[in-house]
Amino acid sequence: MRSLIWFRNDLRVDDNPALSNCCVISEEVIAVYFLTESQWEQHNDSKAKKSFWLRSLVCLEKELQKLNIPLLIIETENYDSIYASLLKLMQQYDCKSLYFNNEYPVNELKRDRYIYKSFKEIGFGVFNYHDQVIHPPGSLKTKAGGNFSVYSPFKRKWFEELTEEQLALFDIPSPKNKVNIESSDVEKISKKFASKIDDLWPVGEEYIKSKVTDFLSTKGHLYKDDRNFPAIDGCSKISPYLNSGIVSPKWCILEAKKYNQNLLDEGDRGIVHWVSEILWREFYRHIIYNFPKVSMNRPFLDYTENLEWSKNIEHLQRWKDGKTGIPIVDAGIREMLNTGWMHNRLRMIVAMFLSKNLLIDWREGEKFFMEHLIDGDIASNNGGWQWSASTGTDAAPYFRIMNPETQSIKFDPQGEYIKKWIPELSQCPISEIHMPVDPLKYGYYQPIVDLKKSRQAAIEAFGNLRKD
Ligand SMILES: Cc1cc2nc3c(=O)[nH]c(=O)nc-3n(C[C@H](O)[C@H](O)[C@H](O)COP(=O)(O)OP(=O)(O)OC[C@H]3O[C@@H](n4cnc5c(N)ncnc54)[C@H](O)[C@@H]3O)c2cc1C
Repeated sequence: MRSLIWFRNDLRVDDNPALSNCCVISEEVIAVYFLTESQWEQHNDSKAKKSFWLRSLVCLEKELQKLNIPLLIIETENYDSIYASLLKLMQQYDCKSLYFNNEYPVNELKRDRYIYKSFKEIGFGVFNYHDQVIHPPGSLKTKAGGNFSVYSPFKRKWFEELTEEQLALFDIPSPKNKVNIESSDVEKISKKFASKIDDLWPVGEEYIKSKVTDFLSTKGHLYKDDRNFPAIDGCSKISPYLNSGIVSPKWCILEAKKYNQNLLDEGDRGIVHWVSEILWREFYRHIIYNFPKVSMNRPFLDYTENLEWSKNIEHLQRWKDGKTGIPIVDAGIREMLNTGWMHNRLRMIVAMFLSKNLLIDWREGEKFFMEHLIDGDIASNNGGWQWSASTGTDAAPYFRIMNPETQSIKFDPQGEYIKKWIPELSQCPISEIHMPVDPLKYGYYQPIVDLKKSRQAAIEAFGNLRKD
């Protein structure tokens, strides 16, 4: 029997349930990936991320070749047009079944449910799997039978319900029978998408696995302390690889276990904390699945819809350009503009600054992050933004606003991170690096807002909202 495997954000051969199951059942397998540029535009996917996907597909094609599976890259308009393209492929190549791993944002769910139902009606086999999470979204319930909207009880339940079986890896399949179909010229297609930061983000399953192992063995035990200091290379930087599925979260969790005496929720405090961050990622996947409104541009807390956001275009532009005059905020934005990635502490600081001190709608920031991050991910990005803006699940209370200057003093005490990204301040003494007395003297900027007054204004704006 011949089957079709549809790759999406699961660009790997190891621990890939759809690929593995497809190969067990089928003698011959063909792989497909849809290049949907206008859909990507609609989702604000960054140039760096698109290039990362295409470069990863070059690696995937080589791995699939070893399994005698050709990879076809099909350019199609958007998600709506995928159905017709898939159907054509199934008929043209006489495939009996379709395999894929699940995605949870609302457009992807709609697309997959339609294809699932229609293909079943036609008589095809359709098989889908959860590879981005350990517990399928919707499967973990509160005592009252509802869905979790707070992380800590979610995490407790995650561990309570965990079985050994759920952590079993899917091996790389054995080679299939050869088929007389040529793979697309992935290398050539990939070149069209090249971005200027490609060198910063090498691709490949082996590359990222050795990076994770190296991180866990040398820095894992320090993670809980170092992860908040952006001048320290203290976190794993695996987010782009996890989000594109170059490595599975399950593989990462099992690797963490190896470096923590086979334990997950106790033992080495650094590694335990790292695992709990991977569970935050899973938590936000459950959130977008269980509360689809959050991936439809709506806040989790409905009443915050009534907040009167500032329409100050100049403030927004200065924030986007990394020219707000608040050094730590500008450093964070500039790190993202230059590398496609931003340290988590900075993501929180710049997001709170935009949504609280500037009182600008968090959706502006969410979109801007997606346009520039190589790890831009609908679930985690939305979760992070709604947390920072106090509009989301388990969000920061609106009156607990991070002061960027205090954050800077605490987490970048020597101003190393600031100096790295703001060369204008290279001669500024440490005593005033967090808020220069005369910024213009360095060719830097006056702060666009007063931190105390803008904080107070945000507290009042949120405090005045009616909750009914
Ligand atoms: C406003 C805002 C926007 C964000 N946008 C994104 C995004 O688009 N894509 C994205 O992957 N993460 C996002 N995050 C979460 C977090 O900042 C990144 O996952 C993390 O910085 C990635 O770096 P790392 O791989 O070194 O993480 P590590 O600290 O090494 O953590 C390991 C992994 O755990 C997961 N993780 C860590 N922190 C979080 C978190 N707070 N929420 C969800 N998962 C987490 C990530 O998959 C990460 O790769 C956002 C956070 C905020 C506050």
